[in-house]
Amino acid sequence: MAELKRLSESRDLTRIERIGAHSHIRGLGLDSALEARAVSEGMVGQQSARKASGLMLQLIREGKIAGRAILLAGQPGTGKTAIAMGLAKSLGQETPFATVSGSELFSLEMSKTEALTQAFRRAIGVRIKEEAEIIEGEVVELTIDRPVAATGSGASGSGQSSSASKTGKLTLKTTDMETVYDLGAKMIEALTKEKVQSGDVITLDKASGKVTKLGRSIGRSRDYDAIGPHTKFVRCPEGELQKRKEVVHCVTLHEIDVINSRTQGFLALFTGDTGEIRAEVREQIDTKVAEWREEGKAEIVPGVLFIDEVHMLDIECFSFLNRALENDMAPILVIATNRGITTIRGTNYKSPHGIPADFLDRLLIICTQPYTEEDIRKILDIRCEEEDVEMSKDAKVLLTKIGAETSLRYAIYLITAAALACQKRRGKIVEMEDISRVYQLFLDVKRSTQYLMEYQSRYMFNEVPREADEDQ
Ligand code: ATP
Repeated sequence: MAELKRLSESRDLTRIERIGAHSHIRGLGLDSALEARAVSEGMVGQQSARKASGLMLQLIREGKIAGRAILLAGQPGTGKTAIAMGLAKSLGQETPFATVSGSELFSLEMSKTEALTQAFRRAIGVRIKEEAEIIEGEVVELTIDRPVAATGSGASGSGQSSSASKTGKLTLKTTDMETVYDLGAKMIEALTKEKVQSGDVITLDKASGKVTKLGRSIGRSRDYDAIGPHTKFVRCPEGELQKRKEVVHCVTLHEIDVINSRTQGFLALFTGDTGEIRAEVREQIDTKVAEWREEGKAEIVPGVLFIDEVHMLDIECFSFLNRALENDMAPILVIATNRGITTIRGTNYKSPHGIPADFLDRLLIICTQPYTEEDIRKILDIRCEEEDVEMSKDAKVLLTKIGAETSLRYAIYLITAAALACQKRRGKIVEMEDISRVYQLFLDVKRSTQYLMEYQSRYMFNEVPREADEDQ
């Protein structure tokens, strides 16, 4: 369990993000009725796809669609990955979100089914509840657990802190101020007056402030005064103070697998070099988790597994997915592709998106649409802000035109390049000249193809048939 604790701490650390392709996406940008706002949480346009994803989000939250699969289909650069990211951000920290790309499965040093199994288990969370003993040296934390109007925390350092100063820092986690000032104050008063031993379970009569001992719980015997700064009071049902705490760890099945895989050890989680995990290890873990679930110590949190470039999977992977989705702990599978009708890898058959018909039949399909110039402009605005780049109006108009004629992704890339060009000429604001300069320096796909067609004969292993050959 100590290892699990360390693990969840390190997971927090790795959440520090760089400015990446999707770092401006903070959610799906929906209102409370799950309608897509025109521009919100970094998301622009693509309203019907976002709305459909919002419905999925609600079903995921309600735990209604475990084991289902959603296909995001659309042309390159139409925001499929962005929508998957938005979904992940909206799910909250406790819901695991694992992502893997189709081609990646074939490049790992393990079989593709092992790589898929690991990806699946990275998307299945286990919420483990543990009762921990009071540890010396901890800060006093008093949580009053009673129905509150809204969730959240914060009353730390309120009027209570002075009366609590004798006993250390007091944090009251509730937004109900009445609870903080009324019940909290009475508790402190009662506790300082009465001799309460660590390990006592007490009830507090709110009206009279009288403390009644109910019996003993865990913990060592000490006078209340001595408990002060060392005691952690967590979860206090109204009027009742229990000197034991409930600690909740959230880990994924994959993390438990790796920790228990003797050849790897938990350090492999940080290097990602987990290798293949033996089937027996997984079986033992599944049995243990099932026991914990029965004893009420653990709950399964089905997360989301996102597989990009799903057309890169072969027929064996698809039959694996078919089977894996039948498992009662299966996560929600979100897959994305930009392919039309193409060959199913590992066969000679063609099908929509290169996905076999039986698997296609399992999918809820969400289509993304090409962007209008206005959408492109708004996305570029957001990206400029994200990258801290100031750009003149004319330069933005030009960049939007380039985006509409080439691709959104190309236009986004030019922002950084143009900012560097601007820096080089010691400018402060990116102007049209910077955009034109980088447009000439870096080719988009269309111009690059044109160039290739012109000079193909000078390249090695040129396989494009010459016109003369074609005539024969
Ligand atoms: P591909 O099929 O090539 O994988 P894709 O459909 O997954 O493409 P993305 O990678 O999501 O496309 O989009 C390209 C870039 O545009 C990303 O930086 C993405 O964050 C941004 N983007 C796409 N759609 C939107 C949107 N609706 N709102 C904001 N940003 C978007």
